[in-house]
Amino acid sequence: MVAEGLIDIDTALLRTEPKALEMILRPVLDPDAPRKIIARGLDASPGAAAGRVVFHSEEAQELAERGEAVILVRMETSPEDIQGMTVSQGILTSRGGQTSHAAVVARGMGKPCVVGCSEIAVDYARQLFYAGDTVIKRLDWITIDGATGEVMEGRVPTLAPPTDSGAMATLLGWADERSRMKVRANADNGPDATRARSLGAQGIGLCRTEHMFFQPEALRAMREMILAEDDRTRARALAKVLPMQRSEFENIFRAMNGLPVTIRLLDPPLHEFLPQRPEDIAQVAADIGVRNETLTDRLRQLHESNPMLGHRGVRIGVTSPEIYRTQTRAIFEAACALTRQSVVVLPEVMIPLVAIPKELELTRQQVVEVAEQVIRETGVPVRYTVGTMIEIPRAALLAAEIAEHADFFSFGTNDLTQMTYGFSRDDMGLFLPAYLQRGVLTESPLSTFDTEGVGQLVSMGTQRGKSRKPQLKCGVCGEHGGDPTGVAFFHSAGLDYVSCSPYRVPVARLAAAHAAIRERQQG
Ligand code: PEP
Ligand code: MG
Repeated sequence: MVAEGLIDIDTALLRTEPKALEMILRPVLDPDAPRKIIARGLDASPGAAAGRVVFHSEEAQELAERGEAVILVRMETSPEDIQGMTVSQGILTSRGGQTSHAAVVARGMGKPCVVGCSEIAVDYARQLFYAGDTVIKRLDWITIDGATGEVMEGRVPTLAPPTDSGAMATLLGWADERSRMKVRANADNGPDATRARSLGAQGIGLCRTEHMFFQPEALRAMREMILAEDDRTRARALAKVLPMQRSEFENIFRAMNGLPVTIRLLDPPLHEFLPQRPEDIAQVAADIGVRNETLTDRLRQLHESNPMLGHRGVRIGVTSPEIYRTQTRAIFEAACALTRQSVVVLPEVMIPLVAIPKELELTRQQVVEVAEQVIRETGVPVRYTVGTMIEIPRAALLAAEIAEHADFFSFGTNDLTQMTYGFSRDDMGLFLPAYLQRGVLTESPLSTFDTEGVGQLVSMGTQRGKSRKPQLKCGVCGEHGGDPTGVAFFHSAGLDYVSCSPYRVPVARLAAAHAAIRERQQG
């Protein structure tokens, strides 16, 4: 219609629903196909997929190797399930919210995913799940629709996404010309970064370094480090971690040549890297070469009643500085090596979960020390910045003081939402359906940004931070970076960029243009 002169470009952009762009890139259910819905959960990652039910990552891998389509069904997923998730057509969990492990990882992979499906009861021992009166056994076919949260019995045909993206590229080109905010992507490896770039990302806004430990070799080294009983063993394990991280950073830097890459130092509590299932505990102990009791004792030590509020983020950086030092060395060795190969590398080192200015002051010092050391050793100058995530309400309140130690802020709106509401993002699937049904909430604040409440903290944090340091760059890297409501709000709050899963980059680009056009139209 623009080409025919019927409407202008702004109208074309405003008539296109940003969320629709994510759907266009995914397979959908054939609208004419009959279906029997057996349960509903949360719509964690769009797209439809059919496959045989498996309950364990190992079995997913075995079947996928034989060319079978599988859907991995679990109560919840953990880093140990990554290989199985990678080969599955889709993922279904009975627990967890929009920012649970399963949801975040599936979105990153661009795989259909339904989480928090409390209408199903998973029985691992008997290898089946119940959905009301229906019993679905291992290897039975099911279909999931990650855009609606529906779970269907049997194999419902799906339609592949259209392959011609010419019209979308034109539309998004127009969008970029109008936006003020930049759009980056959350990506943790080279292929995801490449995909993000091809979808128009203007940098990486969040590289979650812990995701690099999902590969078996890296996970093993990490486990050795956690289980080390003395400094020498710990240093030896960390020395194994270093080259693996370095090579992944190199892949990302190469893919993003000329664009900024924000790398977050380790964030999750350490117990997430250790096995939880009794049968796995024995196997991992044997594999690492420690006694069963050593592993069980360490698990007991690391056990926390509420790990999301526990020993994670910068707290690990403060108590185990050698972990952050190793990661920093890996980042700068990669950056210097690639700079030497004429790749333009713009690393931004990010410290998570800061609540106290001194936490950032301390860890920043360590980062700068190691970065300068590597730059001296290699003789290759690399420009870099060090910043922090703002994901605890106190950090937003003390943004001015925190800004003194930060070159940038990135609002982690997943944690900030969790902590502002005071509910756990992993457990909210238990009460969210009732809240939605009874009208207490109209949407999950983890998928649609809470402009009223959490928004105040984002605005305040940005203003206070920028008033102390005008050149402070501010962005958002929580899931709301790809939520049109969030993007509109972040534009008006004066943020510089948003960052979201690669497949949501087109959504965010269009939403950012909408915000800019609407602002201009309203004068
Ligand atoms: C966040 O909290 O918004 C964030 C991006 O970090 P994560 O989801 O990894 O906690
Ligand atoms: Mg966080």
